[in-house]
Amino acid sequence: MNNRGRLQILIAGCAPDERKHADARVRASLGPRAGSGDWTVSLVKLKTTWSVTLDGPEPHLKGLSFEVSDDRLQVEIRQALDREPSNAPERAAAAPASVAQAKRSRHKCTMCARPFEVHFDTQPGEREVATAVACPRCWHVQRVPVAEGASATESYRAEATPD
Ligand SMILES: [Zn+2]
Repeated sequence: MNNRGRLQILIAGCAPDERKHADARVRASLGPRAGSGDWTVSLVKLKTTWSVTLDGPEPHLKGLSFEVSDDRLQVEIRQALDREPSNAPERAAAAPASVAQAKRSRHKCTMCARPFEVHFDTQPGEREVATAVACPRCWHVQRVPVAEGASATESYRAEATPD
């Protein structure tokens, strides 16, 4: 016996045998979800359609209400439950696609005094950290600013540029 969830189904406006049938379809559409918390599903029969109000344990399942035709009852409840929360934080965070920009920064070797460029990708607003880079001419290692992500994954390269 699973006591974690409580499912309450309120049905009004229809004959007893129809009520039984609707109750069974609500249970079928919830399936194992019924055990995930407290649910209240209320159905009111309006001639040929059902007015459905759903209260589930998750924020995006609170006070969902919609109208469905009798033959679509089970399908529509399931679809309402499967719908992604429209304002879930993880979706909001994923929405702005990260736009990496290729950056090249110019430096002068502290040993041989000849110029080189360091190439790496940077995200908008990403900070840069001092990173050990070898001069492409004399291999003297010096610290130059590189985007944090590129620095951490060592995805940067130094190229000699003309004097
Ligand atoms: Zn050098």
